[in-house]
Amino acid sequence: MVIFMKIYNTLTKTVEEFVPHNSGEVTLYTCGPTVYHYAHIGNMRNYISEDILEKSLNYLGYNVKRCMNITDVGHLTSDSDSGDDKMLKGAQREHTTVLNIAKKYTEAFKEDCQKLNIKWPEIVVPATSCINDYIKMIEVLLKKGYAYISNGNVYFDISKLDDYYALTNHKEDEMVVGVREGVEADSNKKNQGDFVLWFTKSKFEDQELKWESPFGLGYPGWHIECSAISIKYLGEYLDIHCGGVDNIFPHHTNEIAQSEAYLGHNWCRYWFHTEHLNDKTGKMSKSKGDFLTVDTLVEKGYDPIIFRYMCLSSHYRKQLLFDFANLDNAKESYNKLLTKIRNIKDEGTIEDDIRIYQDQFKKALSNDLNTALALTTIYDVLKSNLSGKSKLYLIKEFDNVLSLNLLKEEKIDDKLLTYIHEKINERAQAKAQKDYQTADKIREELLKQNIVIKDTREGTTFEIQK
Ligand code: AMP
Ligand code: ZN
Repeated sequence: MVIFMKIYNTLTKTVEEFVPHNSGEVTLYTCGPTVYHYAHIGNMRNYISEDILEKSLNYLGYNVKRCMNITDVGHLTSDSDSGDDKMLKGAQREHTTVLNIAKKYTEAFKEDCQKLNIKWPEIVVPATSCINDYIKMIEVLLKKGYAYISNGNVYFDISKLDDYYALTNHKEDEMVVGVREGVEADSNKKNQGDFVLWFTKSKFEDQELKWESPFGLGYPGWHIECSAISIKYLGEYLDIHCGGVDNIFPHHTNEIAQSEAYLGHNWCRYWFHTEHLNDKTGKMSKSKGDFLTVDTLVEKGYDPIIFRYMCLSSHYRKQLLFDFANLDNAKESYNKLLTKIRNIKDEGTIEDDIRIYQDQFKKALSNDLNTALALTTIYDVLKSNLSGKSKLYLIKEFDNVLSLNLLKEEKIDDKLLTYIHEKINERAQAKAQKDYQTADKIREELLKQNIVIKDTREGTTFEIQK
């Protein structure tokens, strides 16, 4: 059965059938991290969703080409072009250079992705490697009359577009207020919603990275990097652009404005946004200071994959509250699931009926990435009458998408394993002879060693509790 992907598109505010521009390949662009600090687990929720999107598209038969930038210049503390450069702040905090900070935190981000089984995109581009591409794009925007120079900076003139706010749900007035929140008005701008394409003048004179350009010695704004990198590596027609919901405005709104003004035609068809991970004070963010990282979870004794499991148990378009009670619940159900899987006996043949579950899994993913339902399919497989071999086959296939290490071998000492199996057999024999006293004694003997045995429909299973 051919199943098409349906995804929610922020641009049209509906769940749409996904039709790529070129039938042979799906182009996917991801706004990468700003590498001035460790990524927090909120950022990682976003990248888990995008990872599932890419892997689901692959599973459904699409061929995906994915590109991600690394923001190592131009992202100011306020998304609306004011405040300090985040990279510079990072360098000052650690008494080192911007380049060192970028290197350190790009590496850290890569490691976090590995720990969460997030596939590294096939094209990863540091923003500082494409300066000439931004300059070229800005020159075209100036020539076409979409941009202007004022007091040394180059700005994009949003009044030149009829539908600048197409991606947001808000009215223009509200958005301009949003832009100005806590920020003094920039007297160089024609419209307060205009945004910077190239900075030469800024409040801070000690900007470390600057480049020569026809507009003066300076550095690019944050928004231009994603447009230019995406067009350079993925072409003039982008299929899916991803990011967290906080990127919708102004970042993605500005990306659409400058890309379409530059190209002279529509640019990206589908906009995919992941909702926030919140803590009890609201959106988890780096600026709050004591944010949680993947390593914090490890230090507290959690396998990072439990966090991935927790994210997949909820829908990417719903806000997710993080607290340790929720993580403990996820840990418990994840461990139970692993125990059930470890107890499957690899026997029998691979049956035709596996198709029923493959279709169920595909339907869940194709329905705007219903990962919770996809997880339920695994439980349905476990409960089914399929042979052990069929079950293991399906779980392996599904885990290529979910990446939850479902078939990870638990390292149990061989001697211990033999001992447990002997005890389980002894107990089964005792029960068959209606010698329940001996059966109970064996169970207690194992329990004293933290080995919990359970009688299930599939036979007696065991779990070693830590
Ligand atoms: P940044 O490193 O700040 O540029 O953010 C990287 C990605 O994480 C962006 O796509 C953000 O939209 C996303 N993001 C930031 N905070 C959160 C959060 N609390 N929950 C989910 N995604 C987030
Ligand atoms: Zn971006």
